Amino acid sequence: MKYYSLNNHNIKTSFAAAAITGIAPDKGLYFPENVPQLESDFINNIEKYSDVEIALKAITPFIGDEIPQDILRNIVEETLSFDFPTVEVENGIYSLELYHGPTLAFKDVGARFMSRCLNYFSKGDNKKTTILVATSGDTGGAVANGFLGVEGINVVILYPSGKVSNVQEKQLTALGNNITALEVNGSFDDCQDMVKHAFLDEELKHINLTSANSINVARWLPQMFYYFFAYKQLKHLGKPLAISVPSGNFGNICAGLMAKKIGLPVGHFIASTNVNDTVPRFMQSQQYKPGTTTETLSNAMDVSSPSNFVRILELFESNFGSLKKDLSSYPFDDTETLKAINHLYNKHNYLADPHGAVGYLGLKQFMEQNAGYTGVFLETAHPVKFPQSIEKELGITIPVPDSLASLLTVEKQAIAIKSYTDLKDYLLL
Ligand SMILES: *Cc1c(COP(=O)(O)O)cnc(C)c1O
Repeated sequence: MKYYSLNNHNIKTSFAAAAITGIAPDKGLYFPENVPQLESDFINNIEKYSDVEIALKAITPFIGDEIPQDILRNIVEETLSFDFPTVEVENGIYSLELYHGPTLAFKDVGARFMSRCLNYFSKGDNKKTTILVATSGDTGGAVANGFLGVEGINVVILYPSGKVSNVQEKQLTALGNNITALEVNGSFDDCQDMVKHAFLDEELKHINLTSANSINVARWLPQMFYYFFAYKQLKHLGKPLAISVPSGNFGNICAGLMAKKIGLPVGHFIASTNVNDTVPRFMQSQQYKPGTTTETLSNAMDVSSPSNFVRILELFESNFGSLKKDLSSYPFDDTETLKAINHLYNKHNYLADPHGAVGYLGLKQFMEQNAGYTGVFLETAHPVKFPQSIEKELGITIPVPDSLASLLTVEKQAIAIKSYTDLKDYLLL
């Protein structure tokens, strides 16, 4: 499969090159040259296939022969080393729990898949690849864990000192091995600026520097997998699925929409957002006007210019009518989010995190106006990652899962840096 730049369709490259470079030379996002079609026989008999088989069917056409099938199978098996259960929270409404991975967030799927692809592509290349990421919290943990122990790859993570939660800091700093955490005396924006600077620095050109952000095709596309798993689990109910995705950069929902385009029969998608509502406003007015970003309880979705939205427009050939048929989008504020967390816990005995709660609200809004669907909302992070707001609202203490408990006892290891020069000195060591 070839991938073209959304800024200039004549710039084309392979899956490998798109995964290694992340973004096209003209700064465009990469997009597959054609949308493959899965056989209807496979879709009709999906319950007969294992999750690994399903994922392989979905992803293989996007990679072609760039990774041999047996190696791709290993990559998929390692990516899917945890469960993706659908849990009924009320009549006809299911939570698709995506937080059973090593860092308790759905980003584990993309990070694990991408790391193993890069590992394969770096073989035979005796230069080490250095992944450089800035994180405000969740991304860094998933990337660090996804790349932990992967040969030929070093990971350098920049995070703002004192601005990530205790759990998140441990997920970045306690791993050791090929993961190095740089604790920046500054904000997340400072971290991001340093990373951007490094990618443009001629004196670092001899180092294989790569990013691992969510626009990378190798992180974006494997997110299709769990939409197939939800369909497999809920197909027997006999109704079309309405799937609500708590959205920030819109990579996750864009993977769901791609899954539908290649043949997965999903009835409707709902992009649920917090008050950073650029897309809900677009779906009303057809005007794309990013505002300033507002901090919320669902902070992984505090994004006002979602980078993957251009991919969604491409998928629908910028035809607003057909986009509207498949996608609705609604925003919710923190008061509504806390009310939903409370309602789910006290009425339905279900503990949701603020992101999942936003997803639930969007699903309810759609289903109130549209009958005949089985509803699914994506629970994108474990509630223990956002304990303060939940514990305060519900008056409970969230038990810490075993996997996390042991990590919390490991000593933090981070190198303190202040400026771009410090980062550069470290990279040139
Ligand atoms: C990253 C993230 C999101 C948003 O996903 P996008 O693909 O950026 O839309 C939602 N919930 C959680 C917990 C996240 O970490």
